[in-house]
Amino acid sequence: MRKDVRILLVGEPKVGKTSLIMSLVSEEFPEVVPYRVEEITIPADVTPEKVPTHIVDYSEAEQTDEQLFQEISKANVICIVYAVNNKTSIEKVTNHWIPLITENTDKDSRVPLILVGNKSDLVEHSSMETILPIMNQYSEIETCVECSAKNLKNISELFYYAQKAVLHPTGPLYCPEKKDMKPLCVKALTRIFKVSDLDNDGILNDIELNFFQRVCFNSPLEPQALEDVKNVVRKNLMDGVQHNGLTLKGFLFLHTLFIQRGRHETTWTVLRRFGYDDDLELNQDYLFPPLKIPPDCTTELNHNAYLFLQSVFDKHDKDRDCALSPDELRDLFDVFPYMPWGPDVNNTVCTNDQGWITYQGYLSQWTLTTYLDVQRCLEYLGYLGYSIIAEQESQAAGITVTRAKKIDLQKKQTQRNVFRCNVFGDMSSGKSGFLQAFLGRNFVRQKMIKEEHRSYYAISTTYVYGQEKYLLLHEVFPDFDYLTDVDMACDIVCLVYDVSNPYSFEYCAKVFKQYFMDSKTPCMMIAAKSDLPEVKQMYGCSPLEFCRRHKMPPPQSFTCNTAAEPNREIYTKLTTMAMYPHIIQEDLTSSTFWLRASVGATVFAVLGFAVYRLLLKTR
Ligand code: GDP
Ligand code: MG
Repeated sequence: MRKDVRILLVGEPKVGKTSLIMSLVSEEFPEVVPYRVEEITIPADVTPEKVPTHIVDYSEAEQTDEQLFQEISKANVICIVYAVNNKTSIEKVTNHWIPLITENTDKDSRVPLILVGNKSDLVEHSSMETILPIMNQYSEIETCVECSAKNLKNISELFYYAQKAVLHPTGPLYCPEKKDMKPLCVKALTRIFKVSDLDNDGILNDIELNFFQRVCFNSPLEPQALEDVKNVVRKNLMDGVQHNGLTLKGFLFLHTLFIQRGRHETTWTVLRRFGYDDDLELNQDYLFPPLKIPPDCTTELNHNAYLFLQSVFDKHDKDRDCALSPDELRDLFDVFPYMPWGPDVNNTVCTNDQGWITYQGYLSQWTLTTYLDVQRCLEYLGYLGYSIIAEQESQAAGITVTRAKKIDLQKKQTQRNVFRCNVFGDMSSGKSGFLQAFLGRNFVRQKMIKEEHRSYYAISTTYVYGQEKYLLLHEVFPDFDYLTDVDMACDIVCLVYDVSNPYSFEYCAKVFKQYFMDSKTPCMMIAAKSDLPEVKQMYGCSPLEFCRRHKMPPPQSFTCNTAAEPNREIYTKLTTMAMYPHIIQEDLTSSTFWLRASVGATVFAVLGFAVYRLLLKTR
């Protein structure tokens, strides 16, 4: 909303502009007035809308045309004053003042006008008959009012309307010719309806209406008021109320009614609460709240944000199969201005047998976005109405910025939940297979992935000592010329070679020696395609010898060419190494360490599954 309001009064001499301003300020009619009063500023707390308001007078006798034009272009709202007992002053409204104002204002930023008929104390009849046709002709006229500086009639109302015309303009909301809301307004209110329809049944029931009322107006509706609202809609619209709740049609009707009755500030309050600006676009401040991310830190969703995203999933998983069908996914993103997830997402996270994103996959993708592009995550949470529904200060309240990795390493412990593993390896060494196997896809299943839908990321959960952690795998493009610092920044490195290709190990050795030999990042050698006959690698030493020399764990045999889902053990190992990089040298090669890690993993994987089933049942 605007920070202040500038009201300009224009009109023929002697219609009472100066008297109106002085009557407002002194609350009595001034017998003697100057040609013009200086600009006055009314402090925010004494105005009805609580914004500082500047009132500017005009006098032909004291000001040049140039000064007038300047004031017109600076004004937020212009009151054209005429005297109800002076016909000429009324005629001048259309044949002088409106054209003059149009010429001196930007075409795009239309300034609302208010027609003010002063000296109503002098006549018996009203000027409205003459004025109404003018109002219909010019859509920039917000409203008209008859008043008297002498009787103090409608004086504060006049300035209130002027203020309201600036702060809550009807222009963007309503088309007077069509007597209907404008398409952008309908679109915004439709999104607000969908966000507020917490159970997604297409109806705002009493609980949802009360919640809506509370977040928008800070007060619940009285039960009787709630019934009254529904009755008004019922009376006017056949399908506005269903199952004792408000349908989208009813909701839109109600707002049309508010606007038509001059209560459009109600609609604006709702729109602004849901992040819209005066052009009915979502505000940048709303979508991108400030969030500081120091170097060496990463971004994760906190518990509260996961709960919210879980509720969003639940409300769209209509058949309760714990996966989002294409229709369900489209419905979920209906409150977005565009579809954020492409087909590559289905190859980045876990899906069910039909290839639909599962509950787990859905949360994984959110985790990935938060980690890789937190701004985008804030934007997405904004579209879903996170801060409103979860009653948080802003979207940023859903994000945890982790402490610097340096401190984690010093303290030898971490509170992070997401670990990044960059996967290096020569062309066709088996990197993609390694990523896809993490999502439970064997060789046969991977063959079904279309080239244009492939992803260079895979994210899912693993259990390390009973704690659920996300492991984010990133396939690094093998060309040395393209490697950048970003490719080196991760919690653990995988070096993948193809056991059946004698020339593939050399690449791993080269990457390791060039980038990781002196770094603190733990590395793991993956001997991929272990279902194929192993050949001797054309390199100075064997992979096993290489690992021993560089104090790495021995190469880990891996294949995704399995009948069932590929083995997940390796991913637990990687996550463990990422979490505890310091144990690498001493402990990692000892079998008891791995035994502990993997036993923990199975026990809790089973437990986790059971817990999840339980959750499902209670929903
Ligand atoms: P301006 O030139 O538009 O600023 O008009 P003024 O404020 O100087 O007023 C012109 C004359 O109209 C003065 O004599 C005022 O006393 C008188 N006047 C202003 N407002 C009213 C009103 O509401 N009723 C009556 N009866 N006289 C008014
Ligand atoms: Mg004057």
